Amino acid sequence: MNATAPNSVWTPQGWRGDASGERIVPGIANLHSHAFQRAMAGMAERQTNPADSFWTWRETMYRFAARFTPEALYAVAAQLYVEMLEAGYTSVCEFHYLHHAPDGRPYADRAAMSRALIAAARDTGIRMTLLPVLYMTGGFDERPLGERQRRFGHEVDAYLRLLDTLRVEQDATLRVGCCLHSLRAVPPAPMREVLAALPGDSRVHVHIAEQVAEVEDCVAVRGARPVRWLLDNAAVDERWTLVHATHLDDGEVQGIARSGATVAICTTTEANLGDGLFPLRDYLDAGGHWGVGSDSHISVSPVEELRWLEYGQRLATRRRNIAVSVGADGSDSVGETLLRGVAASAARSTGFAAAELAGDRLVLDRDAPIFAGATDGDYVDRWLFSGNRNLVREVFVAGERVVADGRHRDGEAIARRYGETLRALLTD
Ligand SMILES: [Zn+2]
Repeated sequence: MNATAPNSVWTPQGWRGDASGERIVPGIANLHSHAFQRAMAGMAERQTNPADSFWTWRETMYRFAARFTPEALYAVAAQLYVEMLEAGYTSVCEFHYLHHAPDGRPYADRAAMSRALIAAARDTGIRMTLLPVLYMTGGFDERPLGERQRRFGHEVDAYLRLLDTLRVEQDATLRVGCCLHSLRAVPPAPMREVLAALPGDSRVHVHIAEQVAEVEDCVAVRGARPVRWLLDNAAVDERWTLVHATHLDDGEVQGIARSGATVAICTTTEANLGDGLFPLRDYLDAGGHWGVGSDSHISVSPVEELRWLEYGQRLATRRRNIAVSVGADGSDSVGETLLRGVAASAARSTGFAAAELAGDRLVLDRDAPIFAGATDGDYVDRWLFSGNRNLVREVFVAGERVVADGRHRDGEAIARRYGETLRALLTD
């Protein structure tokens, strides 16, 4: 098997295989991940009360988070990143808030948990944008962090020192950005202080407007909806990624689009948590940038994220083929339109240059029955909308092959360690 990255060809109509007839697509950037949550995926699907919601799910998540050591985080993240690579994600924005020991005290190496994630990315070969999270308060009323939130917390100085420490590690496949957990966890003054201290090209990610209760609390305390407040109080531009942004009014849709920021839509997690439906069509009409993330990892599949991004809109509107924008450079293919959308936001959200990301490619299994009789013009739609078998055959990151014949090069050993780690996590 050829181990060099094949060339994909861009045309105004989309990606085309090279002369070898291979079916090639760009690697997908995963714009939002909390790696540790992979270990609890599927374990919060029992009703605890008839009003179960994001907030009751969060209780399970907090109990789980309390058990993680750097070693456990490394094992879980490595397994997750193998799954991401095999599914076609070639880069991950890791939104990392599990900083300290379970009692809230910093580890001797304050970056120990961050280093576990970096090691997992390097050992598996996935490209990473590490986003250490600033998490300071337990609500818009600025109450102190609760007992189970203490391991997430930083004061501004310690947080900026952590970023300085981690930036030293940056290399061809690692970037370190900045992350505000949410408006409810970062008061206005420290937000401004941190943003003012960042290097000019630093990426900034923030959870925003995922929950109706969060929108209502923000209005009550800060006098504006969260996205409106952020646009009015921070210089939001193309370096910013707004995660979820589910609950938007028309002005906020227009405001995000005008700012140049990217929205990270986490379709399967938002569905799993009952968050709500992102106003995709209005946002596309406004010219907004967007990408996808697997967030809680209830699903680790760009195919499922993109498919259900479109399907959610179809169910809500009782129409079909919603995401396409047929125009001067548009495509009437839903699949190609979705793929272009995620490719266009990858550089601005991850902080890697588009030229660097060009080395991240997927070779699909052209011999799969789903591709029988496929043409250059329809294979992307078949890949994204037809069947459930993983059709990713080879994965290249920065030109290096990390998946061959659908399997990660170190998948078996990593899965064994993950199994041992999870058994210990669940029985301790
Ligand atoms: Zn999240």
